[in-house]
Amino acid sequence: MFHKHIAQSAACPRCQDLYEDALHLISNCSYAEQVWSSLGLPAPTSLAALHQHPPIQGLNPNIWPSVALTVSWKLRDSRNALVFRKEDHSHRTTLRNIVADFSLWIFRFKKNGDNISPRQWLNFLSSAIPYS
Ligand SMILES: [Zn+2]
Repeated sequence: MFHKHIAQSAACPRCQDLYEDALHLISNCSYAEQVWSSLGLPAPTSLAALHQHPPIQGLNPNIWPSVALTVSWKLRDSRNALVFRKEDHSHRTTLRNIVADFSLWIFRFKKNGDNISPRQWLNFLSSAIPYS
């Protein structure tokens, strides 16, 4: 982020880790770790590992790239909300945003004829949001 001149400083705005790179943002940051953990998914150990489907029984691995992209994108969104709009999203807000965004992906899959697998993923992701 720093090298792309997007951020004013290289430090992570959440945990004050000295260097905020792409992997920190989507995985190593304590905030990201908490979000992945709440989803019941392992935080990726590298950007390459993001493309490897975690072994979760009953869920179609073909959908994983869209899930990984959605989670990464929403973690980035949440970080930008904090940096640019001073909005500090709770983990729960980010989880809700992930589920809301992924529910839109369902329509994309629908066109390809497979609607059940993405719905199973959506149910899996939705179960991470605590009730109250
Ligand atoms: Zn951080």
